[in-house]
This record gives sequence, structure tokens and C-alpha cells, in this order.
Amino acid sequence: MLAGPKPSPLANSWNPMAQLEPRKTNHSFGTIEVICGSMFSGKSEELIRRLRRAQIARQRVQVFKPGLDDRYDEDHIVSHNQQRLPSQRVADSVVLMERVEQDTQVVGIDEAQFFDDGLVKACEQLAATGHRVIVAGLDKDYRGTPFEPMPAMLAVAEYITKTLAICMQCGEPANFSQRLTESRERVVVGASDAYEARCRRCFDPGNGE
Ligand SMILES: [Zn+2]
Repeated sequence: MLAGPKPSPLANSWNPMAQLEPRKTNHSFGTIEVICGSMFSGKSEELIRRLRRAQIARQRVQVFKPGLDDRYDEDHIVSHNQQRLPSQRVADSVVLMERVEQDTQVVGIDEAQFFDDGLVKACEQLAATGHRVIVAGLDKDYRGTPFEPMPAMLAVAEYITKTLAICMQCGEPANFSQRLTESRERVVVGASDAYEARCRRCFDPGNGE
């Protein structure tokens, strides 16, 4: 074996499953968790799962989504498998901060890619004041381009979970959202049948151009 730097004792203890969710150790500091991936990868399910667990532990939870999202229901975040959790719509990150109540411990944010860039600072401020912030969103648009503010959110997050879907063409792990329509809008909201999850090989960013 080549002589090299001694591996850190932590190196062997790394376990992807253990990284999925933080363990709360100190109540004076908050954290930012990001759940990101393509469409149909289970981001909202994972967000709802984490928020439900916090509610079961009687932590005070608030859930926000952007006003633009009109999918299925007015006042809930809803996953594709119809799990739901009450949520508040907010027009932007400024309104979101105004709506966070004094005793809230956990802040969930769905469809974060539809928020303004101010969401990153807002989440950092929430974490700095002791909140557990859990952010779910698309990391790329239908062209495969990083979807702001998610790239910056990933940079400031303590914990990142990348969710993969299954390619609807070949069955491999899928990291891309393929648009099947001609629309040039960045996201066609609520039209899940206008998209397919695709792997890198089957993804065609030119579609719809
Ligand atoms: Zn494929």
C-alpha cells in the first residue's frame, strides 16, 4: 500500500443513511437541510416525512410554499402520492419571514425553486436563530440548468439529500426532468403529465425548443 495521510477515524463511520437527517444536539443553533432532485423523485414525500416526525415530537412546525404553485390544493403541500400537510402560501421570501411565528421550531419550504434569491438569506437567518429549516425543490429546470435559488441553497446547507427518480425510458436512476410539451416557460406548474423523469442518457434538453 502507498504511504499516505492517515485516514480520519470519521472516514470509516460515514454512512449515507445516517446523513439523511441531522440529529438535533444543540437547541441554540439551527440547521438547513435541502432535499433536491428531479420531478417524481419523492422530494415532497421526504419533506412531509421529516415534518410529520417533528410534529409527532410536538415540535412547532410551519410549512410554506410559493404563491405561484397552484397544484392540487390551496392550503397543503401535496406529494405525487397524495400525502398532504397544511401549508401557507407566501408571495416571496420577505413575506415568508414575516409569517414565521415566535414559537416556531421547524420551518418547511416546498417548491423552493419558485422563490426569489432572498430565500437563501432568509433560511440562513432562520437557522442562525435556532430553527431547523427543511427546504425541498427542483435542482434543475427542464433544460438541465441549475434552478436558482437552489444552487446557493445547497452551498449554505448543512445537510443535503439528493433524491433520484427512475428513468421512465430505461429504468436507470433518473436525475433529470424531461419536458414533453412545446412550452418554453421554465416550469409548467401542475402539469405532471407534461414531464418524465429521465436518466442522463435518455434526457434530451433540446425537447421543447
Ligand atoms: Zn434512461
